[in-house]
Amino acid sequence: MCIFCKIIQGEMPTKKVFENDKIIAFHDINPQAKVHILVVPKIHFINVDDMRQEHVEYLTECFVQIPQIAKRAGIKNGYRLIINNGEDAGQLVQHLHIHLMGGEQLKIC
Ligand code: 5GP
Ligand code: ZN
Repeated sequence: MCIFCKIIQGEMPTKKVFENDKIIAFHDINPQAKVHILVVPKIHFINVDDMRQEHVEYLTECFVQIPQIAKRAGIKNGYRLIINNGEDAGQLVQHLHIHLMGGEQLKIC
């Protein structure tokens, strides 16, 4: 089982900020911004290349909930969303996740 599936199953401790039947969101263990949250669908697929129709509603739910997750985390002036998709993008965890970063002025990349 992958590390994010273990978090979803409650088998790994994490600083959870939101959860419903389709997604979970928790603080990144190695934050790269003042607020750095990972928003994760509760169904295992590796990345966009691996996405099937049954995954779409889980990914959609991530985007539906992100504005509220950001607001509750104290993000006020915008945020950055990143999906590292595959090896060259630096994807380390092989379970699709969206990085939600903000709470400060971010460097343009
Ligand atoms: P990726 O490079 O795959 O897009 O990002 C994976 C992210 O997951 C990294 O930012 C890393 O710090 C984070 N991460 C890896 N393992 C854990 C963990 O066990 N708990 C939490 N909260 N974050 C993790
Ligand atoms: Zn997984």
